[in-house]
Amino acid sequence: MSLVLFNDLTRKKEEFIPIKPGQVSFYSCGPTVYDYFHIGNARPFIVFDVLRRWLEHEGYNVKFVQNFTDIDDKMIHRAHKENITVQELAERFINEYNKDADSLGIKRPDVAPRATEHIQEIINTISRIIANGHAYESNGDVYFDVKSWPKYGTLCKQNLEDLESGARVEPGEKKRDPLDFALWKAEKPGEPSWESPWGKGRPGWHIECSAMSSKYLGENIDIHSGGVDLMFPHHENEAAQSEAASNSGKPFVNYWLHNGFLLIDSEKMSKSLGNFMTARAALEKYNPLALRFFMLSAHYRSPINFTPESLEQAESGVMRLRNCLSDLDFAAENRVNDSSNFDVKEFDAKLKDFHAKFADSMNDDFNTAAAIGILFDVVHLINTSLKENETLPSEFFKLAKKYLLEYDNILGIIGDVESDSESDEINALIQERTQARKAKNFARSDEIRDLLKSRGIILEDTPQGTKWKREI
Ligand code: AMP
Ligand code: ZN
Repeated sequence: MSLVLFNDLTRKKEEFIPIKPGQVSFYSCGPTVYDYFHIGNARPFIVFDVLRRWLEHEGYNVKFVQNFTDIDDKMIHRAHKENITVQELAERFINEYNKDADSLGIKRPDVAPRATEHIQEIINTISRIIANGHAYESNGDVYFDVKSWPKYGTLCKQNLEDLESGARVEPGEKKRDPLDFALWKAEKPGEPSWESPWGKGRPGWHIECSAMSSKYLGENIDIHSGGVDLMFPHHENEAAQSEAASNSGKPFVNYWLHNGFLLIDSEKMSKSLGNFMTARAALEKYNPLALRFFMLSAHYRSPINFTPESLEQAESGVMRLRNCLSDLDFAAENRVNDSSNFDVKEFDAKLKDFHAKFADSMNDDFNTAAAIGILFDVVHLINTSLKENETLPSEFFKLAKKYLLEYDNILGIIGDVESDSESDEINALIQERTQARKAKNFARSDEIRDLLKSRGIILEDTPQGTKWKREI
């Protein structure tokens, strides 16, 4: 099955056909860096990270761009409040973003452009839109002339009359029509500003993505993603700006992808509602692998409810996966026997069958929930083989590990059990316990067993040595 994506432009699943064979240009709207990001924001960062990894796994050469919005009203207010410059604020929260994103196993983008470092590109884009007759200057502001753009509303599937009823003119705006939106805002006292053909000022919110997307990916790109709240007005405006600037008749984006909301108590998690948990706080409370597992356990377009129970479930899911990998490692050291009568061919055939199903799930609009289900089928097969066979051929271990690691390269929910510092500590305690038992120091050996038990680690003494696993 070839890759099919639900395209919000057509509201249909469509086969993914890249503009250039073997290559994917992918732009994802990034954070506004005025604060720590919350776990609702983390959803697009994680799910589109996995889509990127899947495309790479399928052999595409992916160029992934995710911007930092480092100038807007929120940035300016927060910098004033903290009595620092907007630039200092951006520097601080770009750093914090990278720390949390790294902890969440999110691969760094190929390019992470900042709006304030692309003012010239932004000015050039605005100038082209004006020259093409789709924007106008008004007292130092520049506005997009929505009524001059017949395609406006194509992405959000609304006509101009519907949009008009929701449009407002904010105090101080000098636009001709309530539907028009700012590309450039004239300087206000105390705000950062840059020289431009329209006088000093700063970019509007949407234009940065048009300017940076075309700089790094070209005028027509394969995939553009973000949360569903960005569809209107942000993405509608981006499309209008980009297409009005290029005037080539080519669409700005071929596939528009939007993730559903992360909800808390059935409401969208958001800064303005105050019902948010920062990724930083979540990382203190939960294993990062479990946070990823939780995000990927639902289809990316469906809403997902953040509850303590769902996180506990995710943690026990991760533990089951990690226990399988550590059981495999343990058995690989103690139970290899190449003349074992285990049927490797049959095992291999079953793994291949699961692999095809895993790929079908990922190719079906990137259904990670179904793909995780297949991963558990693989784990079940491995666990059963380990349980039912005293010894196993080395080929068994090679195959089992190869597939688990391949899946984890895409999903990032198992992690590396060998380099886990907690595992090193547990193994050291187990060794100490083995020595204590040999020396008949049962008080110490019981003490170590109890200590590990209190940390949720269960020991099992086998003829090949002591195994451990995490309590589920
Ligand atoms: P922002 O920093 O507000 O521009 O948001 C960064 C990304 O997070 C955007 O793609 C938003 O659409 C997305 N987002 C914000 N809140 C949520 C939420 N509760 N659930 C899922 N995505 C969200
Ligand atoms: Zn954007």
